[in-house]
Amino acid sequence: MTLHPMVLTPEHLEFRDQTRRFARAELMDGYLARAHTDDFPLAQVRRMGEVGLLNLLVPEELGGQGADLLTYGLVAEEISYADPNCAFVILNANLVANLLSRHESPALQDWGRRIGTGETLSCLGLTEPSGGSDAKALKTRAECVDGGWVLSGEKTSISMATAAEVGLVVAQAGEAGSSRSIGAFLVPLDGDTVARQRFRDLGTRPLGRGSLMFDRTFVPDELVVAPPGEGLSFVLGEFDLTRTVIALMATGPATRALEAASAYAREREAFGKPIAANQGVSFVIAEHSTYVEAVRALALQTLGRRQAGQPHTKEAAMLKWWAPQVAFNAIQASIVLHGHVAWSDELPLQSLLRDVSGYQIGDGTPQIQKLVIARHLVGSEVSR
Ligand SMILES: Cc1cc2nc3c(=O)[nH]c(=O)nc-3n(C[C@H](O)[C@H](O)[C@H](O)COP(=O)(O)OP(=O)(O)OC[C@H]3O[C@@H](n4cnc5c(N)ncnc54)[C@H](O)[C@@H]3O)c2cc1C
Repeated sequence: MTLHPMVLTPEHLEFRDQTRRFARAELMDGYLARAHTDDFPLAQVRRMGEVGLLNLLVPEELGGQGADLLTYGLVAEEISYADPNCAFVILNANLVANLLSRHESPALQDWGRRIGTGETLSCLGLTEPSGGSDAKALKTRAECVDGGWVLSGEKTSISMATAAEVGLVVAQAGEAGSSRSIGAFLVPLDGDTVARQRFRDLGTRPLGRGSLMFDRTFVPDELVVAPPGEGLSFVLGEFDLTRTVIALMATGPATRALEAASAYAREREAFGKPIAANQGVSFVIAEHSTYVEAVRALALQTLGRRQAGQPHTKEAAMLKWWAPQVAFNAIQASIVLHGHVAWSDELPLQSLLRDVSGYQIGDGTPQIQKLVIARHLVGSEVSR
């Protein structure tokens, strides 16, 4: 087994604590009220941009923070503890800003800069109405025309579809079903050839998940992010990172829920003593905290492996199926320990539960992750 570097330095911990202070002061109190609305948290995102949380991975010479992956993971966990929806924006903006800022096209670099400061909102359009797991089977067409490309088709289940000003969209430029002709395009979403539809979700409502419909939408050559043949691997190449960071976006809310359960168990009395005095209560907190700590350790280790250029696809897939489930179970356990008071919208626990449950599906379902792991462990005999 390869050894993995995962060393949290005093600088990492200082940045984490600084982010924690910011998140708890500026995001946490308003989370519950925002979670019940369809309003995108624009003011909060702009503040995250101001304090440099949306371009963490962009090199300093390109206007970013030049942070490493461990810092990014710690930030995602802290922001998600306070507001999982704001954490999703951290995930999306850092992904897109980093990819575009490093691109050779000055036009794409400029979009990257704006996304990284929070001035512009982006989304990622991969999934289609006919399916998301089989990414290469996409039907959105990219047709080559004078000076650029014309996109036609529908992307669905897109987080921030209703708020985003620009989308990183993958489309098929050649034979259907072939990954060899899929390209990636940066599509401004303000024109009248783009229509949007909002879904009526029960979790992550402020993010405005929905569909984007392209009706011969023109994309100039300067906004081609990856040419046909390179688009799918360009986007999927980032999935090992996003899947790992999602694990830390899951441990944040789970930790918050377990801390709330501990505090409540010390204070709430039944049968003349604090309910925490019962091992049937305290052991629940102990067990779920163990799982959460194990997820956190694997996630930081996986970020360390990626940082060091070591293989980590299997670990990222392990985290992606396991972490959201661990978090969901921990939050649900906390709800039960709170008794009837958590069965309402007065505490944030139900909102945290619904927000975290979406992590099980977005970026790839548990089944798809287990296929990835099984192929690493068992071999290519594992079918798709
Ligand atoms: C909250 C949320 C946010 C999202 N945000 C985005 C976004 O921003 N951008 C974006 O592009 N997409 C986004 N998605 C879509 C997400 O990536 C897809 O839903 C996901 O990849 C699965 O695709 P599908 O829903 O079409 O399911 P399908 O591919 O139709 O699969 C349906 C079921 O069959 C199972 N299955 C499929 N094939 C196999 C197999 N070979 N073996 C075993 N089981 C199999 C799947 O695991 C799943 O349980 C989001 C989804 C959610 C819920």
